[in-house]
Amino acid sequence: MSKPKGGECVKVVVRCRPMNEKETAQGHQRVVEMNVKRGVVEVNNPKAPQEQPKKFTFDSVYDWNSKQRDLYDETFYELVDSVLQGFNGTIFAYGQTGTGKTHTMQGIKSNREEWGVIPNSFEQIFQHISQSQNQQYLVRASYLEIYQEEIRDLLSKDQTKRLELKERTDTGVYVKDLSSFVTKSVKEIEHVMNVGNNNRSVGATNMNLHSSRSHAIFIVTVECSEEGADGENHIRVGKLNMVDLAGSERQSKTGATGERLKEATKINLSLSTLGNVISALVDGKSTHIPYRDSKLTRLLQDSLGGNARTVMVANIGPASYNYEESMTTLRYANRAK
Ligand code: ADP
Ligand code: MG
Repeated sequence: MSKPKGGECVKVVVRCRPMNEKETAQGHQRVVEMNVKRGVVEVNNPKAPQEQPKKFTFDSVYDWNSKQRDLYDETFYELVDSVLQGFNGTIFAYGQTGTGKTHTMQGIKSNREEWGVIPNSFEQIFQHISQSQNQQYLVRASYLEIYQEEIRDLLSKDQTKRLELKERTDTGVYVKDLSSFVTKSVKEIEHVMNVGNNNRSVGATNMNLHSSRSHAIFIVTVECSEEGADGENHIRVGKLNMVDLAGSERQSKTGATGERLKEATKINLSLSTLGNVISALVDGKSTHIPYRDSKLTRLLQDSLGGNARTVMVANIGPASYNYEESMTTLRYANRAK
């Protein structure tokens, strides 16, 4: 199979959220400058204002005025389209907690203008299907979470069960017993997402803390069957993974010990492995891609590299007190492009 048309296989974009009310009220300085036209981000070190700002260049950057819809049309639409053509694709939201990962992925449900990638992708997929004439489609959805390197099926009745990663020579890596629901409309797939979102908070004593430490992966599989010129039915399957990653903030700073430290180490492991995998893919010369080093990358192995498309949105905050974390995120993103 050939590569999907247009663009590189890994695309990295940076998004900076607006100052929030609290930050404005407290008079925080904005240290981030963005040149949207040129894809440039500049960050001023608040502790050394005489220094030149640190400058980074990306495929695209989105500032505090950017619209969800623009991000979708410019950055995600093509990837989702390639999934409809039978390729795999993965979208990641990366960044410190509070910088807009969930806003980017889910957005605000009640406001069409503020929909994130996930609901917009549902609409694109079902619209495409409703306009197709000679193809038959089957859309399935799964939703899982990785927390402390353990996999939980967010659509299962039993939320105490942990699932295992298995490997088959013919189909590759898969999650054993993961639920998957056939959905026939935007409404139905939204319902599946809502069930999963509700289950995410099950068992979490502090939802904010929990979501900042776990990776949530929504998977849409699109199967298309079409009669070929040879009169035979041909089936192609594309998979779309949409990943709201754990917060990238450094856990060690918080003085974690015992269970907390163990947890922190595991969060950092999957994020650092993801960085290693993506930079090895981008580099193109690496003979070894370390997929096996974390559950997240093993699970996504067939959707990272090869013919698959990847978009990573690196989210940052604008305020001076986020300087260190924003720099860490920009360096991580810079390595991935
Ligand atoms: P994260 O998932 O990274 O922890 P959230 O997506 O929950 O962060 O965002 C934190 C807060 O900032 C939320 O109240 C969210 O609505 C708001 N926010 C994030 N990004 C934007 C944006 N681009 N425009 C407006 N508000 C945003
Ligand atoms: Mg979040």
